[in-house]
Amino acid sequence: MRHNSSVNPALLTIHPQSYPQPELMKIARVALAIPVYRLFDYVIPEALAEQRLEIGMRLQVPFGPRQKIGFLIEIASSSEWAIEKLKPITALIDESTLLSELDTELLQWASRYYYHPLGEVFNTAFPIALRKGKASALTIPKYFALTPEGLTFDPTLLKRAPKQQQLLKDLQALATKVYSETILAEILKPWQSTVTSLIQKSLLVEIESPAEFESISSTSQKPLDANSEQQHAIEQICANLHKFQVYLLEGVTGSGKTEVYMQIIQTVLDAGQQVLVLLPEISLTPQLEARFKQRFQVPIAISHSGLTDTQRHSAWLQMQQGSGRILLGTRSALFTPLTNPGLFILDEEHDSSFKQQEGFRFSARDVAIMRAKALNIPIILGSATPSLESIENVNQGRYQRLHLPQRAGAAIEPSYIIMDIRNKKLQEGLSEPLLQAIKDTLARQEQVLIFLNRRGFAPTLICHYCGWIASCWQCDANFVIHYDEQRLTCHHCGLNQALPKECPSCHKRELKPLGLGTERVEKVLNTLFPDKRLVRLDRDTTKTKGALEDYLQQINDHEVDIILGTQMLAKGHHFPNVTLVALLDVDSGLFSVDFHAPERLAQLITQVAGRAGRAQKPGKVILQTRQPEHPMLQTLIRQGYASFAKLALAERKLAKLPPFSHQALFRASATDAKLPLDFLLKAAEIAKQLAAQDFTVQGPVTAPMARRAGRYHYQLLFQAEHRRNLRYVLDQLLPQLDTIPEIKKVRWSIDIDPIDLY
Ligand code: ADP
Ligand code: ZN
Ligand code: ZN
Repeated sequence: MRHNSSVNPALLTIHPQSYPQPELMKIARVALAIPVYRLFDYVIPEALAEQRLEIGMRLQVPFGPRQKIGFLIEIASSSEWAIEKLKPITALIDESTLLSELDTELLQWASRYYYHPLGEVFNTAFPIALRKGKASALTIPKYFALTPEGLTFDPTLLKRAPKQQQLLKDLQALATKVYSETILAEILKPWQSTVTSLIQKSLLVEIESPAEFESISSTSQKPLDANSEQQHAIEQICANLHKFQVYLLEGVTGSGKTEVYMQIIQTVLDAGQQVLVLLPEISLTPQLEARFKQRFQVPIAISHSGLTDTQRHSAWLQMQQGSGRILLGTRSALFTPLTNPGLFILDEEHDSSFKQQEGFRFSARDVAIMRAKALNIPIILGSATPSLESIENVNQGRYQRLHLPQRAGAAIEPSYIIMDIRNKKLQEGLSEPLLQAIKDTLARQEQVLIFLNRRGFAPTLICHYCGWIASCWQCDANFVIHYDEQRLTCHHCGLNQALPKECPSCHKRELKPLGLGTERVEKVLNTLFPDKRLVRLDRDTTKTKGALEDYLQQINDHEVDIILGTQMLAKGHHFPNVTLVALLDVDSGLFSVDFHAPERLAQLITQVAGRAGRAQKPGKVILQTRQPEHPMLQTLIRQGYASFAKLALAERKLAKLPPFSHQALFRASATDAKLPLDFLLKAAEIAKQLAAQDFTVQGPVTAPMARRAGRYHYQLLFQAEHRRNLRYVLDQLLPQLDTIPEIKKVRWSIDIDPIDLY
C-alpha cells in the first residue's frame, strides 16, 4: 500500500456530539477509502439541507473525474479550503447510519491506534456491495412449509383449482419439508399466486428461515452435564454478563471449551442478545456451525472470505437488523454491526491469523476487546496455548483466567518422546524408530498424523556436479521443487518455471533435490505402506473449494490411515482416531531472528500434539530433533506449555520485549534498494530527535528477506516501554514524513504491535 500523505491527528479527532448550530452546518467532512490520511470537505447542497445527517452515513461524492462512496465523519461550519472550491455532495445513500455511535467511535479509535487512514478502516467494516454504494435493504429469500393440515390434506379435494392441487401434491411428495423460492419455481411458473391461495387456505405458511422450520419440527440437542471446572467457568461468566471483562478460557483441545461457550451462549440468547464468535480459520467454521445448529434454535449468520459477497452481505445485514442471533466468522467479521450484542468469543486466541498482515494491520483480538469494553459486555478468549500477552494480562490481573485442566469425557493426555536424530540414518526424513512406531500404529488400525511445515517436494534443487542452486531471480530465495506439477516455484512471489532436466550452468544431468517437503514424504510413505490410505493436507492439495472439508470428513470417517500435512494440522480440527503424532523437523523453529519464534513453535508443537488421543485411546507424540537438549523443548515437553510460557515471559522481560514494551515497525520497499533505506534513515533521524527517554530506534536494516518480488525491503523498529512514549513520537513523526523526498518513490507502511518482524 502506498501512503501519499501523512497523518493529521487533528483531523482524526472527532466529537460526534458537538454539532454546530444547524444554520452553520454547511461542510461535510468525508472519509474516502483511499490510502491518504486526510478527510475531504464537501458542501452540503440545499437539496439535502432538510435531511437528517448522521455520522457514519454513506454518501456519494465527486472525486476527480469519478464518483466515490465515502463516509460522513464530521459536519463543520468552515473549511480550511475556500468554500467556492469545494464540490457538493452528489447524494446521500443511507437514510440513517448503518453503524451505531459506539461502532463509529470504535472505527475512529482503530484508525488512530493503528495509524491507518479512516476511510479504509470504515471500508473494512462494510461488505463489498455496501462499499460500492448498494442500498442496504435486506432481500431475504423466502421459505415456505406445509402446515400440519397441509401435510395431510387430500389434494383431490382441490379439483376446482388444478394448479393448487398439483402444487400441493408435488410438495407433499418432496423429501424436503422446507421449500425455497427456487424449489417452487422449478415446480410451477409463476408460483406466486398459487402459493398465496394455499396460504389463504392455511395449507402452507411462509417461514423466516429453514432454521425456523427446524426449530418447530426438531428437538435440539441438550447441553451436556458440565464437569466441575466447566461449571465453574460457566457460573463465573454468567454471573457477570452485562459488564466488560476479558476471560481467558484455557484448556487443551478436547477439554470442553466449546461446551462452555455453548452453555454461556444459551444464557445470552435467552436474554434476547446476540453473540459474536470469531475463529482464526475459515476451515473451522463448518464444524462449529454444525454444533451450534444442533444446539440452538436461532438464526446463525456466517461470515468469512470463503463465502460469496452476497452471502457476507446478507450475514452483515441480518446482524445489523437484528434477525441474526449468532454471528460466526473470521477476522473480517469483527466489525459487523450488532443490534443487541451480549457476548464476544474469540477461539484459538493465540492464532496469528487474527492479525491482518497487510493494509489495515489490525489485531482482531485486540480490537474485539476494545469493542467489548465500549459495549460493556464480556469477551471470552479461548485457547489450549494462550499467547504470552494474554498470559501476562492474566498475571497483571487484567484478564480473568478460567482453566479446564482435564480432557472432558474419558480422553487421556498424550505422551511425548524426543527423538534424537543426530547421526541417525533417515529415510526421506523419517528415522527407523519413527517408522517402526508408524508401522505399529497402522497395524492396530489407528491413524497416524505426520507434520512437516514445508510444502512441495524439496526446498532446494542443487547441481551435484557444480553446486548451482535454482533460485528465484525476483527474491532472495531458492525455488521449491514441486514434483507433481514438474515445476519450480517461488513461495514468496509465486514465480514458477518448468523443472529443468539439466543444470543450466554446467549442463550435466546431476540435479538433486535437497531437503524435505510434504510431497517428498508422501512419496516415501506411499512406497513403504502401499496398502494404506494417505491424505496430504497443505495449500497445494486444498486449493479447490470444499477440498479440505472433504478430506476432514474422510479422516473422521476413518477412510484414511495416514494424515500428512503442514500448519493446517495445528488448527483446532478434531481427529479422534489419531494415536500417533510425529513432527519430522522441529529444529528450524528453534533458531530464528524473530523473538516470537519460540512462542510459535511451542504453540505449534502443543497444538499438533493435541490432535492425538482424543477419544479413549492414549496418544503418542514423537518429535524428531537434532537439538534434544534444547531448554525450550525440554521445558515444554517435561513441564508443559504453562511452564514454557513462564520461562519465555521471563526472557522477554529481561530483554524488555513485548508484552513488556511496545513496538511499531516501519516497512519500506522499492525496486531501487537505496530509496527505502534513505527514506527510513531520515525517518529514524526525525524520530530520534523527537524521542524522549524510554524510546529506542533499531535500524533501518534490510528485512530478513531483503529482495521479494523484485523489490528491496527495509525496516525500522521503534520500541518503548510505555505506549504513550511510542505514540508521542509517532503522532509527530507521521505528519513530518511528507518532508522526506523519497516518500513519493517508496511503498511504506506502519505496523503497530507487529507479530511478525518480517
Ligand atoms: P474443546 O472445544 O476444548 O476442544 P469440546 O467442547 O469440543 O472441547 O469437547 C470435546 C469433546 O468432549 C466433545 O466431543 C464434547 O462433546 C465432549 N464433552 C465436552 N464436555 C463434556 C462433558 N461435560 N461431559 C461429557 N462430554 C463432554
Ligand atoms: Zn551444474
Ligand atoms: Zn520469488
